[in-house]
Amino acid sequence: MNVHESEKIAGMLSDIGYDAATSAEEADVIVFNTCCIRDTAEKRAYGNIGALKGLKKTNPEKIIAVVGCMTQQKGGAEALAAKFPFVDVILGTNSLDMLPILVQQKRAKTARIVVNEDPTVDVSVDLPIHRTSGTNAWINIMYGCNNFCTYCIVPYVRGRERSRAISEVLADVKQVLSEGYKEITLLGQNVDSYGSDLKDGTNFAALLKEISALPGKFRLRFMTSHPKDFNKEVVDVIASSRNICHNIHLPIQSGSNEILRRMNRKYTVEQYLDIVEYIKAKMPDVGITSDIMIGFPGETEEDFKATCDLVEKVRFSNAFTFVYSPRKGTPAAKMEQIPADVKKSRITRLVKLQNDVTKRLSDDYIGNVYEILIEDVNPKYPGTVCGRTDSGRLVTVNGDPSLIGEFCDVKITKSRSASLFGEIVTKENQ
Ligand code: SF4
Repeated sequence: MNVHESEKIAGMLSDIGYDAATSAEEADVIVFNTCCIRDTAEKRAYGNIGALKGLKKTNPEKIIAVVGCMTQQKGGAEALAAKFPFVDVILGTNSLDMLPILVQQKRAKTARIVVNEDPTVDVSVDLPIHRTSGTNAWINIMYGCNNFCTYCIVPYVRGRERSRAISEVLADVKQVLSEGYKEITLLGQNVDSYGSDLKDGTNFAALLKEISALPGKFRLRFMTSHPKDFNKEVVDVIASSRNICHNIHLPIQSGSNEILRRMNRKYTVEQYLDIVEYIKAKMPDVGITSDIMIGFPGETEEDFKATCDLVEKVRFSNAFTFVYSPRKGTPAAKMEQIPADVKKSRITRLVKLQNDVTKRLSDDYIGNVYEILIEDVNPKYPGTVCGRTDSGRLVTVNGDPSLIGEFCDVKITKSRSASLFGEIVTKENQ
């Protein structure tokens, strides 16, 4: 989501004549696109903004802007303004379209700081976009979230769910396909509830079906799904389509029903396993990934073991594992916290377990042929390029950048943890 917002920022600044700079020293305008979901990201942003004080002192003409959801937390903009008086523009996510005007006003020496305190204001969708994600185009289908998981700040800073009209989304998809993009990723905090606010009968399954039916060879991905809303209708659409990837990111968070209840996730482990079973029955080649949080307030050793059991049972092809850290302003921040050493021991055990599962699944790929969309060079291995399987696995092959954007059939020869290595068997149009 933040990558795509950064693309919009680059697009807007490019429209008023700015190009990308190679360093902060060289830049006329520096924009920090912040995220407040994780405490560590927020602390890093504070450090990075503070580090610009000297630069601004020696070059007062330089414009520094801070945008994104950190500014939309209650009192967040004021705190930033007080801590960093040298910052010129502070702007919330929902007013992002004002950025070029404010930069120009600042350039014309009008001192101004704008604070967006209203997360219910609709986001402007017609912003120019300077896409930087190679073969992939991100497209927002909705904004905000209605779920109020007790650890999460998003609904407070991004507001309630607002779906874009299906016609708008389709127009964007057709546009990026006409520009040659080979992969589209639909974005939303909870894509499965797409359309519930439109009251015209549209839902996520219908949107997927419409996009999938568009002509041309392309891949369709989406994120993020919520297990309480991800349903069999969506699975059926994916399984019967020719281009929706068999790669589903379904954040479980915990394998304990008591912890899920405390998190206000509104599904049970049994419901989660039921939909996973259905997905695997319909798409045996699927790659299911997840987010797993450990150390949530109240998590006992038994709760943690239940999470490990679930990891073994589902066999996630990969998982983002992380330690719970309290976010100010959320209900969980007021709950009794787990000691740091307990969290550390649990995350170490969980990471090892998930790595073992991932490695075992990786080995199953060896010897088989998969279609890969070549996305980029792999800087780790000179002379190679990389892309993903339909199931979302990263594969590295020998090749040069001219292959980027091509679909190739690749035989997998080797695996290393989550990464696969192979050789090209057939190139597109061969
Ligand atoms: S679904 Fe929960 S975790 Fe995801 S954005 Fe909404 S409140 Fe946050």
